[in-house]
Amino acid sequence: MFDNLSDKLDKALHVLKGHGQITEINVAETLKEVRRALLDADVNFKIAKEFTNRVKEQAMGQNVLTNLQPGQLMVKIVKDELTQLMGGEAEGINLSGNPSVILMSGLQGSGKTTFSGKLANYLKKKKSKNPLLVAGDVYRPAAIDQLHIVGEQIGVEVYSDKENNDPVAIAKAGVAHAKKNGNNVVIIDTAGRLAVDEQMMTEIANIHKTVNPQETLFVVDSMTGQDAVNTAKAFNDVLNFDGVILTKLDGDTRGGAAISIKSVVNKPIKFIGTGEKMDAIDVFYPNRMADRILG
Ligand code: GDP
Repeated sequence: MFDNLSDKLDKALHVLKGHGQITEINVAETLKEVRRALLDADVNFKIAKEFTNRVKEQAMGQNVLTNLQPGQLMVKIVKDELTQLMGGEAEGINLSGNPSVILMSGLQGSGKTTFSGKLANYLKKKKSKNPLLVAGDVYRPAAIDQLHIVGEQIGVEVYSDKENNDPVAIAKAGVAHAKKNGNNVVIIDTAGRLAVDEQMMTEIANIHKTVNPQETLFVVDSMTGQDAVNTAKAFNDVLNFDGVILTKLDGDTRGGAAISIKSVVNKPIKFIGTGEKMDAIDVFYPNRMADRILG
């Protein structure tokens, strides 16, 4: 994960290793390389610039107060700032409803259906919940079948209605079904298009208004780089979602989405998807991710 970024940051921070003290000149040199590494990883220009400015301020300010070597001090500052940038503390999901309704949003192919299954599996195994999956993609019959296959794999019931082509009605009926059935979590998978469009946004906004979810999650493919951030913005404007799910972090992603998304939409990344299997889900911990990036 993020090998390229890790290598480049490691090299950038090495610049300071041989130096006895932090000076404006060697900090500037280091930060130029750090910024380049971030931009190469698809981090938005403004975010990379603000990031290096904050690191510079800290480095110059802390220099006299610490007995860490300059190289170590810089690694620590960059790590702390990266953690902050990616969200500071880890955030859980709100399961206070009865049932707790979780609405999935995102583009087609982002990994919504797969993640719906992973989350149901996670909540069943780790939180002893009894989830229901609801198939809200009425446009692609294959999507409904896919959710049923996922449900079977993990032993979780799936509510669907192929006769009904109104996703708002299906979502509502799914929640009613859960209440009758004793499911304490309802995960609603929804349709996605290949690009943000008005009809899709109106539809998901209507589902949102009708089922009033405890959690609205935005699922995004981390391989899409800066586009991930733009799509997140568009969905957040309409849904004011609660958290982000970054999928496909097992692939050859450069990491820019993980680093930028929190500061653009100001919503935490809650989980990551790291494979196609149902157990390839991890809670997102910004500090652990920063540790991983900086080796
Ligand atoms: P949806 O259209 O948003 O419901 O997306 P799907 O759940 O159907 O996922 C699209 C494709 O991405 C499928 O082939 C999934 O197996 C794959 N996929 C989903 N999540 C991950 C992940 O975390 N890692 C990898 N490698 N593939 C994933």
